[in-house]
Amino acid sequence: MGAKKKTEAVPELPDVRIIHGILKERYPDALCSLEYGGDPWRLLIAARLSAQCTDERVNIVSVPLFRKYPDAHAMAEAEQGEVEEIIRPCGLFHTKAASCIAMSQIIVHEYGGRVPDEMNALLGLPGVGRKIANLILGDVYGKPGIVADTHCIRINGRFGFYPVDLKDPYKVEKILSGIVPGAEQAAYCHRMVLFGRDVCTARAPKCASCPIRAAGACRYGESSPAGTGGTRADGRDGGEP
Ligand code: SF4
Repeated sequence: MGAKKKTEAVPELPDVRIIHGILKERYPDALCSLEYGGDPWRLLIAARLSAQCTDERVNIVSVPLFRKYPDAHAMAEAEQGEVEEIIRPCGLFHTKAASCIAMSQIIVHEYGGRVPDEMNALLGLPGVGRKIANLILGDVYGKPGIVADTHCIRINGRFGFYPVDLKDPYKVEKILSGIVPGAEQAAYCHRMVLFGRDVCTARAPKCASCPIRAAGACRYGESSPAGTGGTRADGRDGGEP
């Protein structure tokens, strides 16, 4: 009889209830940082403008934009050059203006002015990808929706829910959809953004003072000196995905 093969220990996944419980205490208001006044269409437009732009800048630009075009009907009739002039500070203003107008025309003509509440219908709107679609589903319609943005991808990889090298938003969305309870997904992702700016930053996560670490729910970079977390378990710098 040959020698028995050594089986590798599979690392235990952290308990997402513990993680989210800590984040709920730290960030009780898990709100979207885009200001849209509860109007789904405005959130859709603001989310489209936020590509490669800060939410703060989008919120500034949104004021004159929504003053001039208060709803999908007004935007559907807009002259592209006039929209471009207003949203220019957000960057990519040509394509963003075109998709804001085109998506509004579809919402008016195919959905009676109401933003659809179904993934495939949302993905059929120009300029809308899964990240925006999930934001709308979760924030507006209270449906499950993992918004796999840069913070969400980075932090949950560090938690150990998937390899830290995994950067594919779709795969991350699918994995987290099976881990985070549906009703909590939208809030969980908003808290990831706050936590990612505050503690678990891209280049210098504050592991030594991290409440998730203190609760034993994250072992990222534990082998690095003084638990700085600046070096990943695989020896590479934990940079922005
Ligand atoms: S221990 Fe470090 S890597 Fe883990 S969640 Fe906290 S700050 Fe992020």
